[in-house]
Amino acid sequence: LQDKLDKALHTLKGKGQITEINVAETIKEVRRALVDADVSYKVAKDFTDKVKEKALGQNVITSLNPNQLMVKIVHDELAELMGGDSEELNLSGNPTIILIAGLQGSGKTTFSGKLANYLKTKKGKNPLLVAGDVYRPAAIEQLKVLGEQIGVPVYAETENKNPVQIAQNALQKGKEGNHNVIIIDTAGRLAIDEAMMNEIRQVHQTVKPHETLFVVDSMTGQDAVNTAKAFNDVLDYNGVILTKLDGDTRGGAALTIRTVVDKPIKFISTGEKMEALDIFYPSRMADRILGMGDVVSLVERAQEQFDEEEAKRLQKKIAKNTFDFDDFLKQIQQIKRMGNMKDLMGMIPGAGKALKDIEIDDNAFKGVEAIIHSMTPKERQNPQLIDASRKKRIASGSGTSVQEVNQLLKQFSEMGKMMKFMQSPGGRQMMQAMGK
Ligand code: GDP
Ligand code: MG
Repeated sequence: LQDKLDKALHTLKGKGQITEINVAETIKEVRRALVDADVSYKVAKDFTDKVKEKALGQNVITSLNPNQLMVKIVHDELAELMGGDSEELNLSGNPTIILIAGLQGSGKTTFSGKLANYLKTKKGKNPLLVAGDVYRPAAIEQLKVLGEQIGVPVYAETENKNPVQIAQNALQKGKEGNHNVIIIDTAGRLAIDEAMMNEIRQVHQTVKPHETLFVVDSMTGQDAVNTAKAFNDVLDYNGVILTKLDGDTRGGAALTIRTVVDKPIKFISTGEKMEALDIFYPSRMADRILGMGDVVSLVERAQEQFDEEEAKRLQKKIAKNTFDFDDFLKQIQQIKRMGNMKDLMGMIPGAGKALKDIEIDDNAFKGVEAIIHSMTPKERQNPQLIDASRKKRIASGSGTSVQEVNQLLKQFSEMGKMMKFMQSPGGRQMMQAMGK
């Protein structure tokens, strides 16, 4: 029982605050996760340093440990950095002109089709697709096939090799056909070059799009940064589209791009099918990049269960030295409400070294609870009433021994003293010193 009780108390007390030492291993693990997800080392390090700085000294609520809370803080900061909420397209133009830019093979043409499909089926728009890639005959054909598939007309000129003229003609065509959205697909090169940049700049200046979207293959990882910056310097685009997120890629590019260009990611592309398009949600992306989504939901559950009011009430009781076995039982029940202990712990991926020591078995509280249940309400409020004969009664009622009852009583009185001490000015000073 002693062992179980120690574990239970350990859990009840949480581990105080986030300190440099107790989250060091977790910070390292988070940094490794970011680098694995293709975030550049420098960005990963700067980011974790900054988040750690912010987190130091934060109080950890009971039933969590600093490492778990740290992962959650990292997650939220990551989501915040990637834009907080998702950002919608500006569709206020009449017609709304959308220009699609990016390197060859990044997924521009596929995305153009998906976007047209999305605007048609989800937003009730009447889009026109424009084939602006004049260099590869196959590119025009590709867009036509997609257009047919989704029932959206495609404007193309097979003889004309001037994308600026084609775009202008397309705008005219759009007016005639009452199209309220015009999506212009463009040609890309394999790498950034002057000619491509000049061409897209001219198209951009001529059609004055309401939305210019930069499409980038999430698998290009680090290179994506330079490309994103080069295109932004020329086009000052409104949003980023991350494609090919259906593979293993963890999408660290999303974070790295955000740190070099301050532009929202608006959609993610997750397959070759026309339906494989999702609005970008920073929080989900943070889950994916960190690969620790389960810890995050664990903490969220714990935080939901943690009742701010209850905590204040308990603090008062502790201060007045009236924390009793009823309060103790409530605490245990609160922890248990979060779910099965083994399940909860099992949600921690790989349970990195730092998280291993919190292993708790479901029976940790059983003996303790049984003993408390066998006490009368009066005994719970005034443990000093419990004399030898009462101890005997409690032991037999709870299927434990007098010795175990004694142990719990002793532990409880020590805990009371400690709580009282921690509330005192001296105790607080000591806790602060330990935190630093
Ligand atoms: P563009 O040169 O920028 O127009 O790129 P494309 O749209 O032609 O796409 C290049 C290749 O990537 C094609 O084979 C597409 O089918 C494929 N592709 C595009 N988007 C995705 C995606 O989200 N997931 C996957 N798996 N493949 C994609
Ligand atoms: Mg294309």
